[in-house]
Amino acid sequence: MGKYNYNPFSTEADKFICHEEIEETINFALNARSNYTLMSAIMRRASAGKGLSHRNAAALLMCDIPEINEKIYRLAKRIKLDYYGNRIVLFAPLYLSNYCVNGCVYCPYHVKNKHISRKKMTQDEIRQEVIALQDMGHKRLALELGEDPINNPIEYVLESIRTIYGIKHKNGSIRRVNVNIAATTVDNYRRLHEAGIGTYILFQETYNRERYEKLHPSGPKHDYAWHTEAMDRAMSGGIDDVGIGALFGLSTYLYEFIGLLMHAEHLEAVFGVGPHTISVPRLRPADDIQTTDFQDCISDDIFAKIVACLRIAVPYTGMIVSTRESPQTREKVLELGVSQISGGSKTSVGGYHNLGGEEDNSAQFEIADNRSLDEVVCWLLDKGYIPSFCTACYRAGRTGDKFMELCKDKQIHNFCHPNALITLEEYLQDYASEQTLTVGRQLIDSEIRSLNPKIRKRLVKYLAEIRSGKGRDFRF
Ligand code: SF4
Ligand code: SF4
Repeated sequence: MGKYNYNPFSTEADKFICHEEIEETINFALNARSNYTLMSAIMRRASAGKGLSHRNAAALLMCDIPEINEKIYRLAKRIKLDYYGNRIVLFAPLYLSNYCVNGCVYCPYHVKNKHISRKKMTQDEIRQEVIALQDMGHKRLALELGEDPINNPIEYVLESIRTIYGIKHKNGSIRRVNVNIAATTVDNYRRLHEAGIGTYILFQETYNRERYEKLHPSGPKHDYAWHTEAMDRAMSGGIDDVGIGALFGLSTYLYEFIGLLMHAEHLEAVFGVGPHTISVPRLRPADDIQTTDFQDCISDDIFAKIVACLRIAVPYTGMIVSTRESPQTREKVLELGVSQISGGSKTSVGGYHNLGGEEDNSAQFEIADNRSLDEVVCWLLDKGYIPSFCTACYRAGRTGDKFMELCKDKQIHNFCHPNALITLEEYLQDYASEQTLTVGRQLIDSEIRSLNPKIRKRLVKYLAEIRSGKGRDFRF
């Protein structure tokens, strides 16, 4: 290092995501791939469960020594259990509008696509969608919108957030609204923060500037630095929890993997807290998008290894996989590190209430896991996971560095575990099928036994109140 301008403390995109540093890291990883001594040393460091630098993590990702690879998967599973136990947090995306002025060549919402139906939901339509989501049992949403200053101004986003938080239907409520909107100004981030959003999510798509500029030929998103520095502006605007991600398939996977970790290191260096979540979407077919047009799509095996190596590199950062992935792939990556998944998702505008009718072609990508939320919950229970609808931290002010401290000390378990059981009980009581209810209750009964007596006593009281219909929304 040193020959070029790499600086994780800099707030300039080309310095904290420095191309030359990524190239050197790629060389380092490729040269290290069969070096048993070096890999063993990296694994010794990794086994402390405190994370790894982007260089060491990249070396593990490229490792071709079977014995070390087995250890990588074993360690990822152990770290996953140590930090996240058997809990999986559930959420759903909510597409508000697919109007977009950008030209992203991998997304059907790009401005030149003239045959896709364009829709922007009214506040009444949002209400219908949210009621449909509440009736499924969801408590946590991720808002999705294209970038369009005329159709989707920040005022529309803020009004929609207010609408969503205001809807109380039967026992339903949306308790955490995460937001995925285009890179914007510090002032707009501040307004989102004041509106009470949970995590601000923005995928980098690709960290490779040259590829980025080719894949985003027009619109404000063409500006690589504006997009890459968005999380810095979000944090300057008061948003504590940010979620990063790369769309695997747009450039070589090793480049994206290193970019993600350098981004995380940069946020930690400048703000003292890394990203709250990392998403690992893979390119999917969609209206006028064929994955065969992209040379860098990755296999299931590489995908699994990316998840395992990210788990080891950033143990305390949640990892998200959506319904872009099949049930089989989701099952594999759950044990390797994924902590949040979407369930029962629709990726079209108005999809939950079928506002677009049978002819609707407004989906952003094809879904590979079409199961209902109840089927996903039942499947998780069957695999021994606790499906969690918990949203407690942000509502209790445990965000940013306060949250990360608890994570790093593994204290967060004492909140996540009982909260998962409380919210699962709410789900079972209000929305579950008979089969899910039976399996869920069995799991709650057996999980209660592992809690310390003080927490158990409080939890048993909360569960009884939920079951008798006396109360909802208890939390630790
Ligand atoms: Fe618009 Fe986002 Fe799709 Fe790009 S990826 S075309 S910004 S909706
Ligand atoms: Fe997430 Fe906090 Fe709930 Fe744990 S307690 S699941 S970290 S919101």
